[in-house]
Amino acid sequence: MSAAELGSLEVLTSRATAEVRDVLEQALGGRELGRREALVLGQARGAALEALGAVADALRREQVGDEVGYVVNRNVNFTNVCVKACRFCAFSRTSRSEEAYFLSEEEVVRRAVEAAELGATEVCLQAGLAPGLDPWTYVRLTRAVKRAAPALHVHGFSPEEVKYAARLARVGLEHYLEALQEAGLGSLPGTSAEVLVPSVRELISPGRITVQEWCAVIRAAHRLGIPTTCTLMFGHVETLEQRVEHLLLLRSLQRETHGFTEFVPLAFVHEEAPLFARQLVPGLRAGPSAEEVTALYALSRLLLGRDIPHLQVSWVKHGPEEAQRLLGVGADDLGGTLMNESISTSAGAQHGQLLTPRQLRRLIRAAGRRPLQRSTTYEVLRRFEQASDGEHEALDTVTDADSRFGSYQQLVSTKGHRFVLERRAPRPAEEP
Ligand code: SF4
Repeated sequence: MSAAELGSLEVLTSRATAEVRDVLEQALGGRELGRREALVLGQARGAALEALGAVADALRREQVGDEVGYVVNRNVNFTNVCVKACRFCAFSRTSRSEEAYFLSEEEVVRRAVEAAELGATEVCLQAGLAPGLDPWTYVRLTRAVKRAAPALHVHGFSPEEVKYAARLARVGLEHYLEALQEAGLGSLPGTSAEVLVPSVRELISPGRITVQEWCAVIRAAHRLGIPTTCTLMFGHVETLEQRVEHLLLLRSLQRETHGFTEFVPLAFVHEEAPLFARQLVPGLRAGPSAEEVTALYALSRLLLGRDIPHLQVSWVKHGPEEAQRLLGVGADDLGGTLMNESISTSAGAQHGQLLTPRQLRRLIRAAGRRPLQRSTTYEVLRRFEQASDGEHEALDTVTDADSRFGSYQQLVSTKGHRFVLERRAPRPAEEP
């Protein structure tokens, strides 16, 4: 850190309360922060929050430099039919719903190939837990995508999906993960975590994968060498103490397995969430406030940065401008181009389905940082040193993602994709 940077940090931290200043000085001095310190920082507001953000930004620079990553990817949420009814989820439908859809293997492969042709390096496969599912569907989908587009990294299947399929197939988690790996799966999204505190899960998603089970899937994946992301959904009923408990659990898991590639905070999108619409839980918030978001990002950098250096902003949750702002309080990644997005969109997010590589690079440059196209697992694919990196990629020519890739509304209303329980494949005795 330069003398000038240190000087301006000292000015900022001097405006914070003595308690916050003391913890920030510990962080700058390289001391590990624990629960007590995290609780002090998590409550920082006003000048203290500004100082926390500045320290997070300084630590980000030390830990990962000034580049901001993005990945060219496509989301394929291949079914919204789900046997669970998580109260925060606006995406899932019952099998009888008029809006229940299930994309065929051919359609999933078509979407993946189209993405690869447009320069994508990753396809992200995640969906609801469809009743009557052939338990080896996820393995077949992975294999089919890899056959058709071998260079695509398949980032797919949350711990909840892995648990569901393994149980249906009557095999252990590790067995199922090995089958996915053998089919070509590259990594797992660390979703279905929400807040890894049982009392919170009871309120927002009773019957959901437990904390212990989530950790078991993650440990098994990491043991096999399958990396995963990790996430936190915040801004609903959870307290600061519970957020901190979640972050510390992720930190200790990472120290044990070293398999997390990044941490992705996910702000609760409330508009269409059943939890919010029906006011199912007293004290429910309509998503996090801007100050809470800043504090969470900055705190994540301070608590996790040495163990999980990459901190991602979800532009689809926050919008491009807010995502850009969060690059200044500890974040170093803008996630993916997406192309299709159903989960946040169904919950009421208004930020569309696509940011092209060029749009992402512009956001990053406007934040005073250097863009970097990365792989899913953070290998550098392209650096953009020059400000004039104006070359068009195929995806940059897409001006209307909904008409080019299909909108969420089309997905739930197209008869061709309608989910029909009776037509699900009979469960095979043997894995493929
Ligand atoms: S969050 Fe996932 S498991 Fe829960 S209802 Fe929605 S789709 Fe189903």
